[in-house]
Amino acid sequence: MQALIFGPVTSRRFGLSLGVDLSPKDKQCNFDCLYCELAPAKVVASSTNFPNPKDVIEAVKKGIFLHQDVKYITLTANGEPTLYPHLNEVVDGIKALKLPQKLLILSNSSTINDEKIIKILHKIDSVKLSLDTANEQIFKKLDRPIKGIKISNIIDGIIKFAKEYEGELILEVLVVKGLNDTTKDFKELNEVFNLIKPARIDIGTIDRPPAYKVEGVSAKRLNELASHIKGLPISINKKAEYKTSINLDKDEILKLVERRPQSRVDIDSSFTKESKIFLNELFEEGLVKIENVAGMEFICLTKQRF
Ligand code: SF4
Repeated sequence: MQALIFGPVTSRRFGLSLGVDLSPKDKQCNFDCLYCELAPAKVVASSTNFPNPKDVIEAVKKGIFLHQDVKYITLTANGEPTLYPHLNEVVDGIKALKLPQKLLILSNSSTINDEKIIKILHKIDSVKLSLDTANEQIFKKLDRPIKGIKISNIIDGIIKFAKEYEGELILEVLVVKGLNDTTKDFKELNEVFNLIKPARIDIGTIDRPPAYKVEGVSAKRLNELASHIKGLPISINKKAEYKTSINLDKDEILKLVERRPQSRVDIDSSFTKESKIFLNELFEEGLVKIENVAGMEFICLTKQRF
């Protein structure tokens, strides 16, 4: 049997999670993203080489027995997991195990208008969807979808899905130098994000060798771009490159979290010692609080709701 389960892996965004690979043999994807960590492969509309759903469920059962401390079971693939034809059976099978772990799926959003897939996604605790751009041309250049997929349709589908979905909806943007790294790109994304109102937006850049010759942006640039996203919890993946440098007084911290809740890990990695002391004082004064959003701690104003 192929390795259907991997990990547990630790991510600062979801903590410890057990990965489920729904395409363990080949890359099967309807996108050919320039930044993909997998080798380039011909785009496909559906998955044709896939594991038996009973084997997947059995592997999850065994994996969780061995790693009971994981927080999430993550449905993923060498490619796009919603192309797996037995996704419904696998989701139902895992849910029937009545495990304490949350079920998460990582999708490129391409199937968000497919009624069958929407029904399945509603059964999953956390859905993480990629949305790198709101611009059709950039989408074609960067994510290189199979013919017929348009970003405008994807955006409409996500907005509709978000209105009905009761779980944790997380959006992910991957920033590539020279492609989706301008202020204009992020102002457009901001408009879309504020229509979707996800629980959280994860913004990152290339940090592993990509499929094609493209480069990521600096941690400083990621931060600048993220500042154009208003009023929504954001997690910025800055890696080690980011140096502790944000020095704010109490008023400035209050303004910062009022504009946008700040993730605890971002604050830990970017605030100076003095700013952290001020932040602690704000906690003691009851002016800021911690909210848990999709497995991550965010600092926001006590009176703020998001
Ligand atoms: S959607 Fe994911 S798997 Fe598919 S090409 Fe893009 S990065 Fe790779």
